[in-house]
Amino acid sequence: MDEPSTHPHADDKFHEECGVVGVWGSGDAAALVALGLHALQHRGQEAAGIVSMEPTGVFHSHKGRGLVGDNFSNAAVIASLPGRAAVGHNRYATTGETALRNVQPLYADFEFGGFAVAHNGNLTNAHTLKRALVRRGCLFQSTTDSEVFVHLIAISLYSTVTDRLLDALKQVQGAYSLVALHNGALIGARDPLGVRPLVIGRLPQGGTVLASETCALDIVGAEFVRDVEPGEIVVIDDTGLKSLRPFAGQPSRFCIFEYIYFARPDSIVEGTPVYDTRKRIGQELARESAVAADIVIPVPDSGVPAAMGYAQEARLPFELGIIRNHYVGRTFIEPTDQIRHLGVKLKHSANRAVIEGKRVILVDDSIVRGTTSRKIVEMVRAAGATEVHMRISSPPTTHSCFYGIDTPERGKLLAAKHDVEEMAKIIGADSLAFISLDGLYRALGHEGRNAVNPGYCDACFTGDYAIPLVDQRDNAERPVSLLQAANG
Ligand code: AMP
Repeated sequence: MDEPSTHPHADDKFHEECGVVGVWGSGDAAALVALGLHALQHRGQEAAGIVSMEPTGVFHSHKGRGLVGDNFSNAAVIASLPGRAAVGHNRYATTGETALRNVQPLYADFEFGGFAVAHNGNLTNAHTLKRALVRRGCLFQSTTDSEVFVHLIAISLYSTVTDRLLDALKQVQGAYSLVALHNGALIGARDPLGVRPLVIGRLPQGGTVLASETCALDIVGAEFVRDVEPGEIVVIDDTGLKSLRPFAGQPSRFCIFEYIYFARPDSIVEGTPVYDTRKRIGQELARESAVAADIVIPVPDSGVPAAMGYAQEARLPFELGIIRNHYVGRTFIEPTDQIRHLGVKLKHSANRAVIEGKRVILVDDSIVRGTTSRKIVEMVRAAGATEVHMRISSPPTTHSCFYGIDTPERGKLLAAKHDVEEMAKIIGADSLAFISLDGLYRALGHEGRNAVNPGYCDACFTGDYAIPLVDQRDNAERPVSLLQAANG
């Protein structure tokens, strides 16, 4: 049983914010997956795992808490993962204590042989399904929603593994990009609306890679082939790649926050380079919220491309007025508000030499609770700024994400409770502005937000939840852990 969580975002919903990689058809499969996970480290730092499979159908697994480098830099570990196929997973730190049993890929022995699955995203009906499965006698080993896939596959009456997985996918709701491995194929799947990303690459020496982002293809020298399409299931074996589209026809709703914050800037997601998009958002922000100032300073690292775009458009010098210490973890993972305050100081320092006596425009990607902004503004003032204007390259975050981006409950989101003027006061800025929703869509190459078919999931800014929040609706008073409920 997990320790009761002390994490500030702890509530009774699942938090999954992860990176996945799969390789088929390379004698170095596990090493390539480890490299891919290394490139996807920003998607999850809590734990990492790899499951490999030998051509005989024998599986091997290694998982551990911490970074990819902490777990997979040892040649002996990689050597213990033989085979020509492997899947891997990076897990995001969202709970204070994490049991190893929650670390993915999840592995199970079925009558057809071994099966491993790694999942990025969040299922919105996992609790409801889990209840039904527990009632049927399924014994859950973890508290991750991804285990629902394993049990749905186990009880499916279909004969092939692919059909069983399809059967499972038809029952789940939510956001998922997953890679799965069994003795016969590597399978990749994206949810019908394609909320989370998954791309296909080809290795120069032959072999196929699936990964959350193209930066994981680059690190292993794989050529980008294409995105797995929303609702598509790709089945990869020695004969090639087969595509199934059981959920065809739904308009896609790719997560807009991947562009704003989550994806690595050198990745190309859904055909669009993240870096260019972030710069264009910054330019649009500058057009929308110009203010007289001397310098533009990014809040590193997340605000850097947007600040560059802002500075270019505003024709102001771009300066590194805040220096980030890269050797501390993300402040988001700290367990209490008090520590998080401390964390920001550990993470950022003001560069007095460029700030003193200047009117400063600070650019960051988002305000969630406001903790970071408040500290940074204070720090920049203390370093001698005469004015501090905060500019944010996303619209106000007014709603929680239930599709795989870790956000606190709604009541803790600064923008859910305060208007922009109040927020400016709270964070101590002379002015505060967020990019408009239409401005964000313009930066993504659209005329503005099309309310009928926005093309992206922007629920965190609009409350427009495209996938039903079944658990939220049905289980408002559900217990924190169904394992506890089942056992108690
Ligand atoms: P806060 O201090 O709560 O306002 O958080 C805002 C800061 O956290 C910004 O600098 C963002 O770059 C960063 N951030 C936003 N969303 C997330 C997330 N889901 N996980 C980790 N960091 C985030």
